Formats: sequence, C-alpha cells, structure tokens
Amino acid sequence: MATIWRIVIMLALGGTAAIPGCRRQPPPPEPQLSAAQPRAASLPMEGCDVRTNEEWKQALTPEQYYVTREKGTERPFTGEYVHHKEAGTYHCVCCGEPLFTSEAKFDSGTGWPSFFQPISGERVKELPDDSLGMRRTEVVCGKCDAHLGHVFEDGPAPTGLRYCLNSASLTFQRASEGETPSAQP
Ligand SMILES: [Zn+2]
Repeated sequence: MATIWRIVIMLALGGTAAIPGCRRQPPPPEPQLSAAQPRAASLPMEGCDVRTNEEWKQALTPEQYYVTREKGTERPFTGEYVHHKEAGTYHCVCCGEPLFTSEAKFDSGTGWPSFFQPISGERVKELPDDSLGMRRTEVVCGKCDAHLGHVFEDGPAPTGLRYCLNSASLTFQRASEGETPSAQP
C-alpha cells in the first residue's frame, strides 16, 4: 500500500511539476469575422445614399417613388424629358448624382428618354431582371439604387446601347453658359 501511495504522490507531484513547463499559451482568439461582418455590412458604404422607404416617400412625389423605389414604369410619351433637348446633365431624382448628359441623349421613338451611355460606368449599376417573363437588364443609380429603367443592345453608335429611362427617375440641370457637359467615359 505504502509503495502505491508513494507512486501516486510522485505522479501527482511530477504531474504538477510538469504542468508549468508544458503549459502552453492559450491560442489567440480567432478573428470574429462572423460577428464583425454584419456590423460592417450595416454601415453604408462611402458615397452611398441609404434611406428607408418612409424617408424616400417623404422626399419624392408619388410617381417618383413608384418608379424609383418600386421599380415602376411611367407611361410612354408622358415624361417631361422624352423630347427634352437642352444641353445639360440628368441627375438621379433621389440622390442628385449626375448620371447622363444631353450629349448622349437621342430620340429613340419609344416614348422614354434614351441615352447611349452614362457619364461613367460607375454612375449606374446594371442588374439582371427576369420580371414580366422577359430577360432584361435593369439600370439603377450607382449611389442610391434608384430604379432608372433598362438598357437594351439596339442603340446607336458609338456604344450600340439604349439606356431607356423614366423621366420620373431624373432631374435636369442646364449647362451653365460656356460649359459643355462631358460625355466622355
Ligand atoms: Zn441616386
């Protein structure tokens, strides 16, 4: 019995003595990516205009709200910019971002204001749209995601594109004297 106890005590002492030498630092905590991600994602990206539907409703007319925030389409030949020919810049009606210039506007005969290119590719986002049983490409404001219209590949040179937009999504700013809006990408 005594021998057994001695072994037990030695093991116990040896065990405790061994612990400090063998003790390893606890591993550094894993970066909490999953926890941090939603917080980061909930912050608006720089330059973005993120408002609630209620805030947009306050800021827009019912038709502007219907078209831009509910992806509506105004009736053809009813919008104020269909036959608009002044020199200037067309801005997003929601956030004011300059999107298209009069130099890229052309008469498509469709009843909606039409452009062959935006001021730059980043000003608008193009998204696949399979609604209404058609495959189309939706065009939205790059800054606030306002629905603008659709882009089709039957436009004139130099791009061959037709950005078919709703007047209700746009607001026009006349070019000031001596200034010509740049449509160069
Ligand atoms: Zn916008």
